Amino acid sequence: MPELPEVETVRRGLTQLVAGATIDHVDVYYPKMVRPDAEIFTADLIGRKIEKIDRRGKYLLFRFSGDLTLISHLRMEGKYDVQPEGSPIPKHTHVIFHLKDQRELRYNDTRKFGRMRLVKTGTEATELKSLAQMGPEPTESALTLAYMQRVFGKSHKIVKPFLLDQSKIAGLGNIYVDEVLWLSKINPLTPADTLTQAQLSVLRQNIIAEIARAIQGHGTTVHTFSTAFGETGDFQNELHVYGHEGEPCERCGTEIVKIKVAQRGTHFCPHCQPYPPEMQEGLVDD
Ligand SMILES: [Zn+2]
Repeated sequence: MPELPEVETVRRGLTQLVAGATIDHVDVYYPKMVRPDAEIFTADLIGRKIEKIDRRGKYLLFRFSGDLTLISHLRMEGKYDVQPEGSPIPKHTHVIFHLKDQRELRYNDTRKFGRMRLVKTGTEATELKSLAQMGPEPTESALTLAYMQRVFGKSHKIVKPFLLDQSKIAGLGNIYVDEVLWLSKINPLTPADTLTQAQLSVLRQNIIAEIARAIQGHGTTVHTFSTAFGETGDFQNELHVYGHEGEPCERCGTEIVKIKVAQRGTHFCPHCQPYPPEMQEGLVDD
């Protein structure tokens, strides 16, 4: 599933390839994927220029001339690519934006979970509740320590699902949450409101730095974009705990374990990331 760094990488690739291009017409092969209904969707896009592509959390926002915005979420398997007009159309291509310059911007999605929604620019948040409720981007300026103290302090939810909640911080998914918790030496089962100010400060810095590093890592694969947007970039080589269960922790040599937390596979080092005190008591009592 693409996380913020992947979506940002897709955004940058798309900007290089199609910003400034104009839509000739659009074909929708899977009408359930678009809103408003396919007839209106395709009619509204004819002759529009792609002025730029923004991102909010894991949403791509295509800004078109005439104050229209296409909100696109890739969900599990969505991918964009750009092909010359008329080249063979693979089975899982569901929307084709035919450009006036004889290229096609194609949306492919083997699972068909991705969604596109065309709205008037400026109404994104009123049209889509999840955008209205989305927490700050994980950047130095947007994600302040004061904000983190306030929202973490209000919740006794354990930190792993808390960080996955897009209304708290935008864009973090399963991989990067495990990584930032390992970097911060915080156990994934720790209740959010028991983290100290020092722990929150370290966590904040790791979130910001890790996402920035991941975006940079994916930037190196930009040249493959014309055939495969959103492919995992080089950053998988930089992961410390995710997918490393059974291997020694890089810091202390203890075996990395994988458990289920809130239905999600969760990787951590039991030595560097000790269980919170209330759970340790529970373990002894049992
Ligand atoms: Zn360790």
